[in-house]
Parts: sequence; structure tokens; C-alpha cells
Amino acid sequence: MASAQRIVLASRPVGEPRLDNFRLEETPVPTPGPGQLLMRTIWLSLDPYMRGRMSDAASYAAPVQINDVMEGGTVGEVVASNVDGFKAGDIVLGRGGWQTHALSDGKGLRKIDAKAAPLSTALGVLGMPGMTAYTGLLDIGQPKPGETVVVAAASGAVGSAVGQIAKIKGARAIGIAGGTDKCRYVKDVLGFDDCIDHRSRSMAEDLKKACSKGIDVYFENVGGPVFEAVLPLLNMFARVPVCGLISQYNAFEEEKGGKSMNFLLRNALVKSLTIRGFIVSNFAGRYPEFIADMTKWFAEGKIKHRETVVEGLPNAPKAFMGLLRGENFGKQLVRVGPDKA
Ligand code: NDP
Repeated sequence: MASAQRIVLASRPVGEPRLDNFRLEETPVPTPGPGQLLMRTIWLSLDPYMRGRMSDAASYAAPVQINDVMEGGTVGEVVASNVDGFKAGDIVLGRGGWQTHALSDGKGLRKIDAKAAPLSTALGVLGMPGMTAYTGLLDIGQPKPGETVVVAAASGAVGSAVGQIAKIKGARAIGIAGGTDKCRYVKDVLGFDDCIDHRSRSMAEDLKKACSKGIDVYFENVGGPVFEAVLPLLNMFARVPVCGLISQYNAFEEEKGGKSMNFLLRNALVKSLTIRGFIVSNFAGRYPEFIADMTKWFAEGKIKHRETVVEGLPNAPKAFMGLLRGENFGKQLVRVGPDKA
């Protein structure tokens, strides 16, 4: 009997995830029952939010249970189908999770046109991270021509799109990224106006120099010391879409929050800031505009993207741990099975 692989949550991490928080299991390939289809996973997306799902702290989504398959967005091929509207050979975007094969009732699956763009882009620039950038920046950040937009994790899946969309809208885009290679890429390839290395001791001064007219939109992806450097530079009526706080995801509970809270609130008050957290699903209704604009900009070469690909499901945990440390360069993906497109 053919076998499948899956990675389950073996235990909840305290601080940084470790390899023993995950367990690779072999199972028979499942057979779809009535009203079900079977997908083989081609691409698995690794995303920072998965760290939250490994923890049982209260959040906007329920945690993965111990011994359950790790959750994740996937692009897969339908192998066999008992679901109306899907047939073997269809390529689908779904939430198959960290496994080589997944059953689905078809709900929430989206068929992908394999000829329109590389399949993996449905998990990156033309998928959830791209839509996060698009909606967070345009709906909350609302950049105007000539304004300064700052985004951290600027070489990554979300940040790279934020800065490029800001440029398309006529704003100045300043990135913050880890290391000279990433900063060079953000400026030279993605076309940001400048990029600051957050690992440099002079990060706060460098940012101040790059933002001589202050910051009108700060797209928050990381929190921590980067936010502390940004806060004094925010202009009157600046907008802060709070998208993620990756620098805090591995922090122990007692390290979170704390000392700069009053400083933040004072800034929010005296500068009439708009600070709004969001989850991309808040803007689900914007999908048609997002996909129309991003597909066009992507085809025109106005939006560029980069991927870090690891081969094989067993390498997913290590790659995920690396993502939280900034070892990925662009969208982090796992090629789980052959991509014939
Ligand atoms: P990326 O592809 O940008 O990868 C994560 C990057 O975060 C790393 O490469 C690293 O880049 C950076 N990073 C890690 N630790 C730190 C740190 N301590 N300080 C500064 N930067 C750090 O990930 P995504 O684009 O997928 O996600 C970016 C953010 O967007 C995350 O916070 C994520 O949770 C959030 N998000 C939120 C969504 C929502 O609906 N609200 C949806 C999707 C993503 P570097 O080497 O440059 O430091």
C-alpha cells in the first residue's frame, strides 16, 4: 500500500521551537469517501503565524492540538474526487497542512490556473501574504503620493509587497531588513528608496536619516526594537497597520508587553496616530481587487518576488525554525511533491 507522510505537533514549544516539538509520521495514503477528494501536496507554505498555532495562548484562531497535523496553506493536485466541481488533475489552493496527502470536502478550495503564474505564487505574492500587504497598506495605511512608508521584514513575503505597492502609489518606501544582502536586494531589485539593517547598532540613527521628513505609514511586521526606533519618527496623523510582531513570537510570556507601553500610548495621543491591528481575513471581500491589481502588476514586472525553497516534507520543521530567525530570504516554501506545471 502506498504511504503518505505527515508532521504532527508533538509538544508545545517554550520559547524557540525545537525539532522535538514536531513528529514525522508515515500513514497509508487515505482513500476519499463519499463527498471527499484526495489531494497530493505540491507546495506547502511556511508562515510566521504557525508559531502562534503551536501555542495554546488565546488568539484569533484555535491552536493545533497535540498529535494533530500542523496547519498550513498548500497548493496541491487532486488525485481522486467524489466532490462535484473537482476532478483528478485539478490544481487547488487550500489548507492541506504539513502532509503529503490530504482529504477535503472541497469547501474553501480554490482552483488555480496553472498557466497563469508559477503555482507557488498562489502561496506568496499572489496569495495570502500578498493580500495581507495589499489590504493592510491600502485600506489601513492609505499612503499618499510623496509620503514616507516604512516596513520591516522588507525582503520577506509581506514586506516586499508592501514597499513595492507603496512605490506604485507614489510614496517613498523605506525597508528595514536583517543584513547587507537583504538590504541590497530590497533597494536594488525591489526598488525601495532605502533599506536599513536592523542588526546594525546604528539602526535608529540610520532610520532617522533615511526618513528626514518623518514617517507617515509604518507597516508593523516585527515589533520590539524596530518599533522603538520607528515610534519617535512618526508624523502627526501617521497610520500604523499592525500586521505582525515576529520579534515577539518566541518570547516567553513574561517578556511580552511592558516597559514602553506608556511611551506608545503617549505617542498615540499627542500625534493623533491611527494604530490598527488586522488579520488578512478581515478584508476577505477585497480579494477581487487584490487579485486583479496584483496579477497585473506582477505580469508588468512592477512587483517582484523571491522564494526560499526547501525540498521534502521532513525538512519543514527546520525551515520553519529558520524562518523565525530570519534565515529565509523571501517567501519560505517547502516543495513536498513534484510541480509539473
Ligand atoms: P517573512 O517572509 O518576512 O519572514 C519572516 C522575517 O521576519 C524573517 O526573514 C526576518 O527577516 C524577520 N524577522 C524575524 N525575527 C525578527 C526580529 N527579531 N526583528 C526583525 N525582523 C525579524 O514573513 P512574512 O512576510 O510571511 O510575515 C511578515 C509578518 O507579517 C509576520 O509578522 C507575520 O506574522 C505577519 N503576517 C500577518 C498576517 C495578518 O493577517 N495580520 C498575514 C501574514 C503575515 P530579516 O532577516 O529581514 O530580519
